[in-house]
Parts: sequence; C-alpha cells; structure tokens
Amino acid sequence: MSRRRQIYEGKAKILYEGPEPGTLIQYFKDDATAFNAQKRGVISGKGVLNNRISEHLFTLLGGIGIPHHFIRRLNMREQLVRQVEIIPLEVVVRNVAAGSLSKRLGIEEGTPLPRTILEYYLKDDTLGDPMVTEEHIACFGWCSQEELADIQDLSIRINDFLTGLFAGIGIKLVDFKLEFGRLWEDDWSRVILADEISPDGCRLWDMRSGERLDKDRFRRDLGGEVEAYQEVARRLGLLPEGQETAIFDIDEARKARESR
Ligand code: UDP
Repeated sequence: MSRRRQIYEGKAKILYEGPEPGTLIQYFKDDATAFNAQKRGVISGKGVLNNRISEHLFTLLGGIGIPHHFIRRLNMREQLVRQVEIIPLEVVVRNVAAGSLSKRLGIEEGTPLPRTILEYYLKDDTLGDPMVTEEHIACFGWCSQEELADIQDLSIRINDFLTGLFAGIGIKLVDFKLEFGRLWEDDWSRVILADEISPDGCRLWDMRSGERLDKDRFRRDLGGEVEAYQEVARRLGLLPEGQETAIFDIDEARKARESR
C-alpha cells in the first residue's frame, strides 16, 4: 500500500490514487469513531464486511439506474471507484425516529415517521458536521438548486429500494447517511452516489427482536459489533454459513503477505 499515493484519510476509509486517471482506490479500515470522533475504537474485520456490503448495495442500486462511483471490488478491503468532487453535505434519510432526531425533538426511538425526512449536515469535522437547511445550501453555494433536486430524487429512490431490500431479509431500515459527488465530463458535471453504504452509516434493526445490527452497538457499548455486521452480510447472502472465519483468515493472510 505504501507504493500508492494517499489522497485522503478519513475516519473509516483511506483513498489512494487509482490505476487510471479519474479513478481512486477506497480502502476500508477497521477503525470506528462516534460522536464526532470523541469515541474511537477498532472493530476487527469491519472493513472487510463493509467493503463487501457496500459493493453489493451499490451494484444493486446501479441495477435500478442509480448512478454511482463504484467500479469493482479489488480485494477484501479495497474497491476501485470513480474520482468525484465530493459535495460537502451528508444527507440523512429517516424512516423511523432514532438517534439525534429523537434526542433533539423528544420523539421516542422507534416511532415510525408519517413521511420520510431528508436532513442535510455540512461535512466539516471542525464544526462537528452541523445540520443545515436548503436555505443555507443555496446561500453558501455548497451545491446548485439543480444538484440538490437530483440529490433529493436519488435519496428517495435509494431509500425506497433499500427499505424493501432490507425488509425482505427481516431488517428495518431506520435511517442512513448518503454522500454524493460531481462526476465531471468535459465542462459539465452530474451528481452520482459516492462514499459507502454499510452498517457504519445506517441504522438497521432486526424486525422481530429489535436488535441493532449497526454501529449503534459501538456507539452504545452494546458489544457484538462484528457479529452484527456479519449477520447483515449473511442475510444479504454475502456470507454463506460457515464462512465467517474464512473471510478473516484470507484477510489476515493477505496482511501477513504484504508485511513481508
Ligand atoms: N450518520 C453517519 N455519519 C455521521 C452522522 C450520522 O453515517 O457523521 C448516520 C448514522 O449512522 C445514522 C444516521 O446517519 O444511521 C442518522 O444519524 P443521527 O443524526 O441520528 O446521528 P447520531 O446520533 O447517530 O450521531
């Protein structure tokens, strides 16, 4: 990995220069952070699972016509993606009250929302990703009105698709975070889905037991993080019975090889 030029290191991923112009390699780490990085930890094996889960979800979304940055998975922890200019907004889609919405507005966690809510947060760690409105977005020009309309349209389509997909495997998609980027082609650009979709940025509740199968296990010290992520992968058909350990053995073997 040291051979490649690192473009950016985030909390859970590293971006390296890709093999061709206009491409990047997205490396999934095991590092976990919460509460604006005030809580830090390592969830061993998380990166492997998120890489695989995100690949699967992006591929399915591509199949229904959602434009996205994913090109192909390269190995257990890396995927090749299109280089985009990231729009500095985190788009949160909510179907059920939880997390900051419940806290801020005093709505009991688990209350179904009568309509889907889209929220926008400015991607700025130093400010703690503050929530912003469409007025702020327009005023400060973080994206154009046309781009925002595309973001809203894509977010709702993604939500409809993923809600059904997860419901089919007994999981309630409570809320999730999306990021979008501009893909430049000559002197015009279009908005495409970027980043990742994984249990790190979604709330996924088992429909029967209500068990949390997402990063809230880490945020709330519930334990069993990797088992929960594995369960999501297993239900998505990505982890046939008995392969839970094999996936990590391969990864460990690769790491050992690379360190030699
Ligand atoms: N989320 C995320 N990154 C962030 C903030 C939120 O991926 O920096 C996701 C989070 O996992 C959840 C949804 O967005 O699925 C809504 O999060 P919320 O606003 O409730 O914030 P939280 O209380 O989780 O920090």
